[in-house]
Amino acid sequence: MLIDYNDSPWGRQFSPVIAIDGQAGSGKSTLSQGLSQRLGLPVLGTGLFYRAISLWMLEDESRLHLDEHVLKEMLSSVKIEVEQERTTLNSVDVTNELRSKELQEILPLVSANVHVRAYLVDLQRSWVSSHGSSIVEGRDIGTVVFPRAYFKVFLRVSREIQIQRRPEEKDTIILRDLADSTRLISPSTPAADAVVIDTSKRTAQEVLDSVLILLTDCVEELLFGTDKHPGKDSAKYE
Ligand code: C5P
Repeated sequence: MLIDYNDSPWGRQFSPVIAIDGQAGSGKSTLSQGLSQRLGLPVLGTGLFYRAISLWMLEDESRLHLDEHVLKEMLSSVKIEVEQERTTLNSVDVTNELRSKELQEILPLVSANVHVRAYLVDLQRSWVSSHGSSIVEGRDIGTVVFPRAYFKVFLRVSREIQIQRRPEEKDTIILRDLADSTRLISPSTPAADAVVIDTSKRTAQEVLDSVLILLTDCVEELLFGTDKHPGKDSAKYE
């Protein structure tokens, strides 16, 4: 949702979103949940949309090879809802079907598809329009989905720690991450004004505490023009 706050101290359009992007296993969900508890804001994990579309593709694998015009047409009738940790695909609760190895394997292919992305970005923006101020987690939130988010974090993690944190995904996680960061469309990369934090040697609590301090600086800057926006000095958190 873009709100035009012409009368506000911002004096420009912005999205009422805290954008949390980063690598798989970098702690995005843990950070988002921690922020949600502290700030009382809802969280949207956008990966669930990509997982749900991948499941839809697996239900009929011919969908993986559709002509792009046909795919675009068909996607418009796929209904995905993400609400309070439940995900439904065409009104069926698929929450427990989104983490299979088979599904993880096709995720990079599905999430590199331009029509899939265009459709899902619309759904993500609609979700924020109906939920208001939120924490939105993904790969391209600060760069593409909500480039005017008022606070952006990008989390990094070393390969070693990534596998330690997600042993059940050890066969796919590195390749998936590589595909996410190198794809042509909406690659996973920090926005120019994002705070970049390497979580490999930090506990979840340390990351949360740092982000809360940075967020306070950001809000002060927005309200009082203190020139402390953390995105201006992102390198120091790496
Ligand atoms: O966050 P999660 O691990 O559930 O994301 C699954 C996959 O969905 C990612 O590896 C990525 O390929 C895709 N994704 C994406 N853009 C997002 C969120 C997820 O491409 N904003």
